[in-house]
Amino acid sequence: MKKKELLVVLGAGESGCGAAFLATQKGYAVFVSDKGKIKDKYRTFLLENKIEFEEETHTEEKILSASEVIKSPGIPEKAPIIKKLREKGTPIIDEIEFGLRYTKAKIIGITGTNGKTTTTLLTHHILKKAGYKVGLAGNIGQSLAYQVATENHDYYVLELSSFQLDGMEKSRIHIAILTNITPDHLDRYEYKLENYISSKFRIIQNQTSDDAFIYSADDEITATALKSFQTPANLYPFSIKTKVEQGAYIDNNSLIIKTPNSTFTMFLEELALQGKHNTYNSMAAGIGSKLVEVRDKTTRESLADMESVEHRMEPVAKVFGIQFINDSKATNVNSTWYALESMQAPTIWIVGGQDKGNDYAELYDLVKAKVKGIVCLGKDNQKIIEAFKGLFPNIPETDNADDAVRAAYRLAKKGDNVLLSPCCASFDLYENYEDRGKQFKRAVRAL
Ligand code: ADP
Repeated sequence: MKKKELLVVLGAGESGCGAAFLATQKGYAVFVSDKGKIKDKYRTFLLENKIEFEEETHTEEKILSASEVIKSPGIPEKAPIIKKLREKGTPIIDEIEFGLRYTKAKIIGITGTNGKTTTTLLTHHILKKAGYKVGLAGNIGQSLAYQVATENHDYYVLELSSFQLDGMEKSRIHIAILTNITPDHLDRYEYKLENYISSKFRIIQNQTSDDAFIYSADDEITATALKSFQTPANLYPFSIKTKVEQGAYIDNNSLIIKTPNSTFTMFLEELALQGKHNTYNSMAAGIGSKLVEVRDKTTRESLADMESVEHRMEPVAKVFGIQFINDSKATNVNSTWYALESMQAPTIWIVGGQDKGNDYAELYDLVKAKVKGIVCLGKDNQKIIEAFKGLFPNIPETDNADDAVRAAYRLAKKGDNVLLSPCCASFDLYENYEDRGKQFKRAVRAL
């Protein structure tokens, strides 16, 4: 035991407080430092657990005397304190890496540009329904470190962002799922796609021949990158385009999952989460569940009764026969592509927000095929209007959910869909995508 070595935790949010709690339990001297104001809930937690902390400042001398630092994934590399720690050579890790040191549980880790949360919740739902002692953590829910300190789980399903993976060196993910890779968050990766890809592939970095890597064979970036990332793990590709020997594919309108000991089948129409993107997510979660030997019946039932996840293609309400759908979490072109692709009725598309360098040309054909009207919801809508004015000469612009919903309602007829799938970040008008989705739902219900 590294008794009374100083462990410094930077950032007193969910992950930082959990890490501080576990570190205290393991006999470290712990100091938590947050450059901003700590939320009341976490300040109370630190006080109650007698964990030393500071807020709205970083006491450099103390932080630089740490033997190891746990950094919140939100703190960028360019933060001055991180630069100083790097210069000194202090190891900086993520809370997940720290938590995993102290558990023998089997780890299912999920990363990718889109579909992480859905696939994580789906996998957790299946294992829970199977009666397994399973925790849900990572970029979602309660801190992993805190659960390791207080629970006795046999499995953890972890949603891992690339920022978390960047702070993981030694962690071994037994079952790794990579949903897909499309350019996103490139500002954190010097605008180099290869850096972002390397970050995602860290999920397989310590895998052994006992482990499994589940990935999309239909995703060209993943398939190409896999050639240069050697792994001893067993490969389980999933595809809706081709048949695979081991993994998941579609045959005769059924989802087939093949693992060394079993073949699982299920009608596509039975899947609770519809749309191509969700078929991929169901495939990935299904393979993961089969690899930990969940029974076919339970897997089938769970994939069939999963509830839709809030802000992700979430059906809100039907008003005079018009179906309103909240996909506020779609903050990039790829996720909106899948949303539009899954539309089965003429659609009024509400789009806009803070543009992250979108190329709307990628959506043009799909918009032409599926969309009957566009409503902009954003501060600056010029790029969207330019991209689609050939299809729709009059695109109403709005800057609040009520106006956007009313404008869409005026354009829609019975049997149509109104889809909020903004393709953009929300920070121009909203606190975050949840806030945007909630205001949209409120506006729909007020119609
Ligand atoms: P993440 O946690 O990776 O952001 P979510 O499950 O929260 O992923 O979904 C984010 C957005 O992407 C939603 O709009 C959702 O409808 C869409 N989406 C979900 N799964 C996929 C997928 N496999 N491929 C593309 N888009 C997806």
